[in-house]
Amino acid sequence: MKLHNLKIPSEKVNFKQAVIQGIGQQRGLFFVDSFKPLNNIDEILSMNFVERSAHVIHHLIDAELSLEKVKEMVAAAFNFPVEIKQIEQNVACLELFHGQTLAFKDFGARFMAQCVKEFNDKEQVTILTATSGDTGAAVAHAFYGIQGINVKILYPKGKISNLQEKLFCTLGKNIETYSVEGDFDDCQRMVKAAFDSDEIRQKHNLTSANSINISRLLAQVCYYFEIASKYPKGNLVVSVPSGNFGNLTAGLIARQIGAPIKRFVAATNANDTVPRYLMENIWSPNKTIETASNAMDVSDPSNWPRIMSLFNNDLDKVKQVISATIKDDEQTFIAMEQLQIEGYIAEPHTAIAYAGLIESLQNDEEGVFISTAHPTKFIETVESVLKIKLELPDALEKVKELENLSVTVTNDTSKFNQMLLK
Ligand SMILES: *Cc1c(COP(=O)(O)O)cnc(C)c1O
Repeated sequence: MKLHNLKIPSEKVNFKQAVIQGIGQQRGLFFVDSFKPLNNIDEILSMNFVERSAHVIHHLIDAELSLEKVKEMVAAAFNFPVEIKQIEQNVACLELFHGQTLAFKDFGARFMAQCVKEFNDKEQVTILTATSGDTGAAVAHAFYGIQGINVKILYPKGKISNLQEKLFCTLGKNIETYSVEGDFDDCQRMVKAAFDSDEIRQKHNLTSANSINISRLLAQVCYYFEIASKYPKGNLVVSVPSGNFGNLTAGLIARQIGAPIKRFVAATNANDTVPRYLMENIWSPNKTIETASNAMDVSDPSNWPRIMSLFNNDLDKVKQVISATIKDDEQTFIAMEQLQIEGYIAEPHTAIAYAGLIESLQNDEEGVFISTAHPTKFIETVESVLKIKLELPDALEKVKELENLSVTVTNDTSKFNQMLLK
Protein backbone atom coordinates (compact mmCIF):
# COMPACT_ATOMS: atom_id res chain seq x y z
CA MET A 1 0.00 0.00 0.00
CA LYS A 2 1.44 3.35 -1.03
CA LEU A 3 0.55 6.41 1.00
CA HIS A 4 1.72 10.01 1.09
CA ASN A 5 1.51 12.95 3.48
CA LEU A 6 -1.33 15.21 2.31
CA LYS A 7 0.61 18.30 3.43
CA ILE A 8 4.04 17.24 2.16
CA PRO A 9 3.38 14.88 -0.78
CA SER A 10 7.06 13.97 -1.06
CA GLU A 11 6.83 12.14 2.29
CA LYS A 12 5.93 8.59 1.18
CA VAL A 13 5.21 5.65 3.48
CA ASN A 14 3.86 2.13 3.31
CA PHE A 15 0.99 0.80 5.44
CA LYS A 16 3.23 -0.39 8.27
CA GLN A 17 5.00 2.96 8.55
CA ALA A 18 1.69 4.84 8.39
CA VAL A 19 0.27 2.73 11.21
CA ILE A 20 3.30 3.08 13.48
CA GLN A 21 3.99 6.78 12.82
CA GLY A 22 0.31 7.72 12.88
CA ILE A 23 0.86 11.21 11.55
CA GLY A 24 3.37 12.78 9.11
CA GLN A 25 5.63 15.83 9.21
CA GLN A 26 3.92 19.13 10.01
CA ARG A 27 1.02 17.06 11.34
CA GLY A 28 0.00 16.08 7.79
CA LEU A 29 -2.35 13.11 7.38
CA PHE A 30 -1.25 10.00 5.53
CA PHE A 31 -3.53 8.98 2.70
CA VAL A 32 -3.53 6.41 -0.06
CA ASP A 33 -1.96 7.49 -3.41
CA SER A 34 -4.73 5.87 -5.47
CA PHE A 35 -7.41 3.25 -5.01
CA LYS A 36 -7.71 0.24 -7.28
CA PRO A 37 -11.29 -0.97 -7.85
CA LEU A 38 -12.16 -4.53 -6.82
CA ASN A 39 -12.73 -6.68 -9.89
CA ASN A 40 -14.83 -9.37 -8.17
CA ILE A 41 -17.54 -7.29 -6.48
CA ASP A 42 -20.34 -9.87 -6.79
CA GLU A 43 -18.21 -12.58 -5.24
CA ILE A 44 -17.09 -10.20 -2.47
CA LEU A 45 -20.67 -9.16 -1.69
CA SER A 46 -21.78 -12.78 -1.35
CA MET A 47 -19.26 -13.58 1.42
CA ASN A 48 -19.95 -13.44 5.17
CA PHE A 49 -18.85 -10.35 7.11
CA VAL A 50 -15.46 -11.51 8.41
CA GLU A 51 -14.44 -13.28 5.20
CA ARG A 52 -15.49 -10.31 3.07
CA SER A 53 -13.79 -7.80 5.39
CA ALA A 54 -10.52 -9.71 5.13
CA HIS A 55 -10.70 -9.61 1.32
CA VAL A 56 -11.50 -5.90 1.26
CA ILE A 57 -8.72 -4.95 3.68
CA HIS A 58 -6.24 -7.23 1.95
CA HIS A 59 -7.11 -5.61 -1.38
CA LEU A 60 -6.50 -2.16 0.14
CA ILE A 61 -3.18 -2.88 1.83
CA ASP A 62 -2.02 -5.00 -1.07
CA ALA A 63 0.88 -7.41 -0.68
CA GLU A 64 2.11 -6.03 2.65
CA LEU A 65 0.30 -8.76 4.56
CA SER A 66 -0.94 -12.15 3.39
CA LEU A 67 -4.67 -12.81 3.07
CA GLU A 68 -4.33 -15.48 5.78
CA LYS A 69 -2.75 -12.98 8.18
CA VAL A 70 -5.42 -10.35 7.48
CA LYS A 71 -8.14 -12.96 8.06
CA GLU A 72 -6.66 -13.75 11.45
CA MET A 73 -6.50 -10.06 12.39
CA VAL A 74 -10.02 -9.32 11.18
CA ALA A 75 -11.47 -12.32 13.02
CA ALA A 76 -9.81 -11.16 16.24
CA ALA A 77 -10.89 -7.54 15.76
CA PHE A 78 -14.47 -7.97 14.59
CA ASN A 79 -15.66 -10.33 17.31
CA PHE A 80 -19.14 -8.81 17.47
CA PRO A 81 -22.03 -8.57 14.99
CA VAL A 82 -23.24 -5.79 12.68
CA GLU A 83 -27.03 -5.58 12.61
CA ILE A 84 -29.49 -4.01 10.19
CA LYS A 85 -32.99 -3.07 11.43
CA GLN A 86 -35.82 -2.12 9.09
CA ILE A 87 -37.53 1.06 10.39
CA GLU A 88 -39.83 2.19 7.57
CA GLN A 89 -40.59 0.82 4.12
CA ASN A 90 -37.42 2.13 2.46
CA VAL A 91 -35.51 3.17 5.59
CA ALA A 92 -33.23 0.93 7.67
CA CYS A 93 -30.71 1.42 10.47
CA LEU A 94 -27.20 -0.03 10.49
CA GLU A 95 -26.32 -0.73 14.13
CA LEU A 96 -22.58 -0.53 14.76
CA PHE A 97 -22.73 -0.55 18.57
CA HIS A 98 -22.62 -4.25 19.42
CA GLY A 99 -18.96 -4.23 20.45
CA GLN A 100 -17.45 -4.20 23.97
CA THR A 101 -17.82 -0.47 24.51
CA LEU A 102 -21.16 -0.05 22.76
CA ALA A 103 -20.03 2.47 20.13
CA PHE A 104 -18.77 2.13 16.57
CA LYS A 105 -15.29 3.25 17.68
CA ASP A 106 -14.72 -0.43 18.57
CA PHE A 107 -14.27 -1.29 14.86
CA GLY A 108 -11.40 1.12 14.29
CA ALA A 109 -9.75 0.70 17.67
CA ARG A 110 -9.79 -3.11 17.64
CA PHE A 111 -8.35 -3.38 14.14
CA MET A 112 -5.71 -0.75 14.95
CA ALA A 113 -4.70 -2.80 17.99
CA GLN A 114 -4.22 -5.85 15.73
CA CYS A 115 -2.06 -3.78 13.37
CA VAL A 116 0.11 -2.35 16.15
CA LYS A 117 0.55 -5.85 17.57
CA GLU A 118 1.53 -7.20 14.13
CA PHE A 119 3.91 -4.40 13.15
CA ASN A 120 5.53 -3.66 16.48
CA ASP A 121 9.11 -4.95 16.44
CA LYS A 122 10.07 -3.67 19.89
CA GLU A 123 9.73 -5.82 22.96
CA GLN A 124 7.50 -3.37 24.79
CA VAL A 125 5.72 -0.24 23.56
CA THR A 126 3.52 2.23 25.39
CA ILE A 127 0.43 3.80 23.90
CA LEU A 128 -0.10 7.18 25.52
CA THR A 129 -3.32 8.98 24.72
CA ALA A 130 -5.78 11.57 26.03
CA THR A 131 -9.51 11.03 25.75
CA SER A 132 -12.74 12.79 26.50
CA GLY A 133 -14.73 9.54 26.65
CA ASP A 134 -15.72 7.16 23.84
CA THR A 135 -12.31 6.73 22.27
CA GLY A 136 -10.60 5.94 25.59
CA ALA A 137 -12.96 3.07 26.29
CA ALA A 138 -12.59 1.66 22.78
CA VAL A 139 -8.77 1.91 22.85
CA ALA A 140 -8.51 0.41 26.35
CA HIS A 141 -10.65 -2.61 25.48
CA ALA A 142 -9.00 -3.06 22.10
CA PHE A 143 -5.48 -3.32 23.59
CA TYR A 144 -6.52 -5.11 26.79
CA GLY A 145 -4.33 -8.17 27.38
CA ILE A 146 -2.24 -7.74 24.22
CA GLN A 147 1.34 -8.76 24.97
CA GLY A 148 4.09 -6.19 24.62
CA ILE A 149 1.75 -3.21 24.66
CA ASN A 150 1.16 -0.96 27.65
CA VAL A 151 -1.62 1.60 27.52
CA LYS A 152 -1.76 4.86 29.48
CA ILE A 153 -4.92 6.92 29.13
CA LEU A 154 -5.45 10.42 30.53
CA TYR A 155 -8.93 11.85 30.99
CA PRO A 156 -10.38 14.91 32.74
CA LYS A 157 -11.53 14.04 36.26
CA GLY A 158 -15.27 14.46 36.80
CA LYS A 159 -15.88 15.46 33.18
CA ILE A 160 -16.97 12.11 31.80
CA SER A 161 -19.96 10.15 33.00
CA ASN A 162 -19.55 7.70 35.86
CA LEU A 163 -20.57 4.77 33.67
CA GLN A 164 -18.20 5.80 30.91
CA GLU A 165 -15.37 5.98 33.44
CA LYS A 166 -16.19 2.55 34.84
CA LEU A 167 -16.12 1.11 31.33
CA PHE A 168 -12.38 1.63 30.90
CA CYS A 169 -10.90 2.40 34.34
CA THR A 170 -11.70 -0.99 35.88
CA LEU A 171 -9.74 -3.22 33.48
CA GLY A 172 -6.28 -3.32 35.08
CA LYS A 173 -3.52 -5.52 33.59
CA ASN A 174 -1.81 -3.56 30.78
CA ILE A 175 -4.31 -0.68 30.94
CA GLU A 176 -3.39 2.26 33.20
CA THR A 177 -5.78 5.18 33.56
CA TYR A 178 -5.02 8.64 34.93
CA SER A 179 -7.74 10.92 36.18
CA VAL A 180 -6.39 14.44 35.65
CA GLU A 181 -7.43 17.38 37.83
CA GLY A 182 -8.12 19.63 34.86
CA ASP A 183 -9.90 19.64 31.52
CA PHE A 184 -9.42 17.76 28.24
CA ASP A 185 -6.99 20.38 26.93
CA ASP A 186 -4.78 19.80 30.00
CA CYS A 187 -4.76 16.07 29.23
CA GLN A 188 -3.70 16.73 25.65
CA ARG A 189 -1.00 19.14 26.82
CA MET A 190 0.40 16.49 29.18
CA VAL A 191 0.47 13.85 26.43
CA LYS A 192 2.24 16.29 24.10
CA ALA A 193 4.81 17.18 26.77
CA ALA A 194 5.60 13.50 27.32
CA PHE A 195 6.07 12.97 23.56
CA ASP A 196 8.32 16.06 23.45
CA SER A 197 10.73 14.47 25.95
CA ASP A 198 13.33 12.29 24.20
CA GLU A 199 14.05 10.57 27.49
CA ILE A 200 10.45 9.52 28.04
CA ARG A 201 9.87 8.60 24.40
CA GLN A 202 12.84 6.27 24.47
CA LYS A 203 12.26 4.83 27.92
CA HIS A 204 8.68 3.82 27.08
CA ASN A 205 8.84 3.45 23.27
CA LEU A 206 5.88 5.80 23.06
CA THR A 207 3.32 5.55 20.25
CA SER A 208 0.03 7.31 19.91
CA ALA A 209 -3.30 5.71 19.06
CA ASN A 210 -5.28 8.63 17.84
CA SER A 211 -8.28 8.82 15.64
CA ILE A 212 -6.48 9.77 12.44
CA ASN A 213 -4.56 6.48 12.18
CA ILE A 214 -5.09 5.00 8.70
CA SER A 215 -5.73 1.51 10.08
CA ARG A 216 -8.94 2.73 11.69
CA LEU A 217 -10.33 3.92 8.38
CA LEU A 218 -9.65 0.59 6.68
CA ALA A 219 -11.59 -1.22 9.39
CA GLN A 220 -14.54 1.08 8.89
CA VAL A 221 -14.67 0.49 5.12
CA CYS A 222 -15.87 -3.06 5.88
CA TYR A 223 -19.31 -2.33 7.28
CA TYR A 224 -20.22 -0.28 4.20
CA PHE A 225 -19.78 -3.45 2.17
CA GLU A 226 -22.10 -5.19 4.62
CA ILE A 227 -24.90 -2.68 3.87
CA ALA A 228 -24.13 -2.75 0.15
CA SER A 229 -24.48 -6.55 0.16
CA LYS A 230 -28.09 -6.16 1.37
CA TYR A 231 -29.05 -3.48 -1.20
CA PRO A 232 -27.54 -4.54 -4.51
CA LYS A 233 -29.84 -2.44 -6.74
CA GLY A 234 -27.56 0.57 -6.87
CA ASN A 235 -30.07 3.07 -5.40
CA LEU A 236 -28.68 3.01 -1.87
CA VAL A 237 -28.22 6.25 0.11
CA VAL A 238 -26.27 6.09 3.39
CA SER A 239 -26.58 8.78 6.07
CA VAL A 240 -23.54 9.14 8.33
CA PRO A 241 -23.60 11.09 11.62
CA SER A 242 -20.40 13.08 11.24
CA GLY A 243 -17.99 14.91 13.53
CA ASN A 244 -14.38 14.35 12.56
CA PHE A 245 -15.54 12.75 9.28
CA GLY A 246 -13.55 9.51 9.59
CA ASN A 247 -16.69 7.42 9.23
CA LEU A 248 -17.76 9.19 6.03
CA THR A 249 -14.22 8.95 4.61
CA ALA A 250 -14.41 5.18 5.05
CA GLY A 251 -17.78 5.07 3.26
CA LEU A 252 -16.37 7.00 0.33
CA ILE A 253 -13.41 4.62 0.08
CA ALA A 254 -15.85 1.69 -0.03
CA ARG A 255 -17.76 3.38 -2.87
CA GLN A 256 -14.55 4.23 -4.71
CA ILE A 257 -13.39 0.62 -4.81
CA GLY A 258 -16.76 -0.65 -5.97
CA ALA A 259 -19.37 -0.91 -3.20
CA PRO A 260 -22.70 -0.17 -4.95
CA ILE A 261 -23.62 2.94 -2.95
CA LYS A 262 -25.33 5.75 -4.89
CA ARG A 263 -24.58 8.64 -2.55
CA PHE A 264 -24.09 9.79 1.07
CA VAL A 265 -25.68 12.22 3.49
CA ALA A 266 -23.20 13.93 5.82
CA ALA A 267 -25.42 14.56 8.84
CA THR A 268 -23.98 17.06 11.33
CA ASN A 269 -25.21 18.78 14.48
CA ALA A 270 -24.93 22.57 14.92
CA ASN A 271 -21.19 22.27 14.25
CA ASP A 272 -21.86 22.78 10.56
CA THR A 273 -18.55 23.69 8.89
CA VAL A 274 -18.93 21.05 6.16
CA PRO A 275 -22.59 21.76 5.26
CA ARG A 276 -21.79 25.46 5.02
CA TYR A 277 -18.74 24.67 2.89
CA LEU A 278 -20.87 22.68 0.44
CA MET A 279 -23.42 25.51 0.24
CA GLU A 280 -21.11 28.53 0.15
CA ASN A 281 -17.79 27.11 -1.10
CA ILE A 282 -15.98 28.76 1.82
CA TRP A 283 -14.19 26.84 4.57
CA SER A 284 -14.81 28.87 7.74
CA PRO A 285 -14.94 26.90 11.00
CA ASN A 286 -16.83 28.62 13.81
CA LYS A 287 -16.16 28.18 17.50
CA THR A 288 -17.15 24.64 18.58
CA ILE A 289 -20.65 24.48 20.05
CA GLU A 290 -21.59 22.01 22.82
CA THR A 291 -24.53 19.83 21.80
CA ALA A 292 -26.40 16.72 22.98
CA SER A 293 -24.46 14.74 20.35
CA ASN A 294 -21.11 15.62 21.89
CA ALA A 295 -19.01 13.05 19.99
CA MET A 296 -19.76 15.21 16.93
CA ASP A 297 -18.82 18.53 18.51
CA VAL A 298 -16.01 19.18 16.05
CA SER A 299 -15.77 22.41 14.08
CA ASP A 300 -12.60 21.74 12.10
CA PRO A 301 -12.86 18.07 11.09
CA SER A 302 -9.38 16.68 10.55
CA ASN A 303 -10.41 14.03 8.01
CA TRP A 304 -11.81 16.54 5.51
CA PRO A 305 -8.54 16.84 3.51
CA ARG A 306 -8.72 13.08 2.94
CA ILE A 307 -12.21 13.47 1.44
CA MET A 308 -11.07 16.30 -0.83
CA SER A 309 -8.16 14.14 -1.94
CA LEU A 310 -10.57 11.31 -2.87
CA PHE A 311 -12.24 13.74 -5.32
CA ASN A 312 -8.98 15.26 -6.62
CA ASN A 313 -9.87 18.45 -4.71
CA ASP A 314 -12.81 19.06 -7.05
CA LEU A 315 -15.65 20.44 -4.93
CA ASP A 316 -18.26 19.98 -7.68
CA LYS A 317 -17.48 16.27 -7.74
CA VAL A 318 -17.80 16.15 -3.93
CA LYS A 319 -21.27 17.67 -4.18
CA GLN A 320 -22.41 15.02 -6.66
CA VAL A 321 -21.85 12.32 -4.04
CA ILE A 322 -22.31 14.04 -0.67
CA SER A 323 -25.23 16.16 0.46
CA ALA A 324 -25.09 17.62 3.95
CA THR A 325 -27.73 18.33 6.60
CA ILE A 326 -27.63 20.28 9.87
CA LYS A 327 -29.74 19.39 12.92
CA ASP A 328 -29.65 21.39 16.15
CA ASP A 329 -30.53 19.83 19.53
CA GLU A 330 -34.23 20.64 19.24
CA GLN A 331 -34.46 18.92 15.84
CA THR A 332 -32.41 16.03 17.22
CA PHE A 333 -34.88 15.49 20.06
CA ILE A 334 -37.82 15.63 17.63
CA ALA A 335 -36.15 12.96 15.50
CA MET A 336 -35.65 10.79 18.61
CA GLU A 337 -39.39 11.12 19.33
CA GLN A 338 -40.31 10.24 15.73
CA LEU A 339 -38.18 7.12 15.91
CA GLN A 340 -39.76 6.24 19.25
CA ILE A 341 -43.20 6.37 17.56
CA GLU A 342 -41.87 3.92 14.97
CA GLY A 343 -40.82 1.65 17.81
CA TYR A 344 -37.11 2.43 17.75
CA ILE A 345 -35.09 3.93 20.61
CA ALA A 346 -32.12 5.98 19.41
CA GLU A 347 -29.53 8.21 21.07
CA PRO A 348 -28.81 11.72 19.67
CA HIS A 349 -26.04 10.89 17.12
CA THR A 350 -28.17 8.19 15.53
CA ALA A 351 -31.24 10.44 15.47
CA ILE A 352 -29.27 13.10 13.56
CA ALA A 353 -28.39 10.53 10.89
CA TYR A 354 -32.06 9.52 10.66
CA ALA A 355 -33.29 13.13 10.36
CA GLY A 356 -30.68 13.90 7.70
CA LEU A 357 -31.68 10.83 5.70
CA ILE A 358 -35.41 11.65 5.79
CA GLU A 359 -34.67 15.19 4.65
CA SER A 360 -32.66 14.01 1.66
CA LEU A 361 -34.17 10.68 0.54
CA GLN A 362 -36.05 10.46 -2.80
CA ASN A 363 -38.91 8.04 -3.51
CA ASP A 364 -36.90 5.76 -5.79
CA GLU A 365 -34.03 5.38 -3.29
CA GLU A 366 -33.32 2.98 -0.42
CA GLY A 367 -32.01 4.71 2.70
CA VAL A 368 -29.81 3.45 5.54
CA PHE A 369 -28.82 5.62 8.51
CA ILE A 370 -25.90 4.64 10.69
CA SER A 371 -26.30 4.15 14.42
CA THR A 372 -22.97 4.87 16.09
CA ALA A 373 -23.84 4.29 19.77
CA HIS A 374 -26.13 2.21 21.97
CA PRO A 375 -28.92 4.31 23.56
CA THR A 376 -27.60 3.67 27.09
CA LYS A 377 -24.29 5.37 26.25
CA PHE A 378 -26.29 8.59 26.36
CA ILE A 379 -28.76 7.38 28.96
CA GLU A 380 -29.51 10.74 30.63
CA THR A 381 -30.53 12.41 27.36
CA VAL A 382 -32.49 9.43 26.07
CA GLU A 383 -34.43 9.00 29.33
CA SER A 384 -35.31 12.67 29.66
CA VAL A 385 -36.24 13.28 26.00
CA LEU A 386 -38.26 10.08 25.55
CA LYS A 387 -39.62 9.92 29.13
CA ILE A 388 -38.67 6.29 29.55
CA LYS A 389 -36.39 4.19 31.77
CA LEU A 390 -33.67 2.20 30.01
CA GLU A 391 -32.21 -1.06 31.20
CA LEU A 392 -28.43 -1.25 31.09
CA PRO A 393 -26.94 -3.88 28.77
CA ASP A 394 -24.75 -6.55 30.41
CA ALA A 395 -21.52 -4.81 29.41
CA LEU A 396 -22.42 -1.76 31.51
CA GLU A 397 -24.27 -3.59 34.29
CA LYS A 398 -21.20 -5.76 34.93
CA VAL A 399 -18.74 -2.90 35.37
CA LYS A 400 -21.00 -0.72 37.53
CA GLU A 401 -19.87 -2.37 40.74
CA LEU A 402 -16.19 -2.79 39.88
CA GLU A 403 -13.46 -0.75 41.56
CA ASN A 404 -12.13 2.29 39.68
CA LEU A 405 -8.36 1.71 39.37
CA SER A 406 -7.47 5.20 38.09
CA VAL A 407 -4.62 7.18 39.61
CA THR A 408 -5.48 10.81 40.24
CA VAL A 409 -2.82 13.30 39.08
CA THR A 410 -2.61 17.09 38.92
CA ASN A 411 -2.41 18.85 35.56
CA ASP A 412 1.28 19.70 36.14
CA THR A 413 3.18 18.49 33.06
CA SER A 414 6.62 18.36 34.67
CA LYS A 415 5.33 16.31 37.62
CA PHE A 416 3.67 13.88 35.24
CA ASN A 417 6.86 13.63 33.18
CA GLN A 418 8.88 12.92 36.33
CA MET A 419 6.46 10.16 37.26
CA LEU A 420 6.88 8.59 33.82
CA LEU A 421 10.65 8.61 34.26
CA LYS A 422 10.63 6.84 37.63
C1 LIG B 1 -16.93 9.50 17.04
C2 LIG B 1 -18.42 9.46 16.95
C3 LIG B 1 -19.15 10.02 15.86
C4 LIG B 1 -18.48 10.80 14.75
O1 LIG B 1 -17.71 10.01 13.88
P1 LIG B 1 -16.59 10.69 12.95
O2 LIG B 1 -15.89 9.58 12.31
O3 LIG B 1 -15.71 11.49 13.88
O4 LIG B 1 -17.31 11.59 11.99
C5 LIG B 1 -20.53 9.86 15.82
N1 LIG B 1 -21.18 9.22 16.82
C6 LIG B 1 -20.55 8.70 17.89
C7 LIG B 1 -21.35 8.03 18.95
C8 LIG B 1 -19.15 8.80 18.00
O5 LIG B 1 -18.52 8.28 19.08
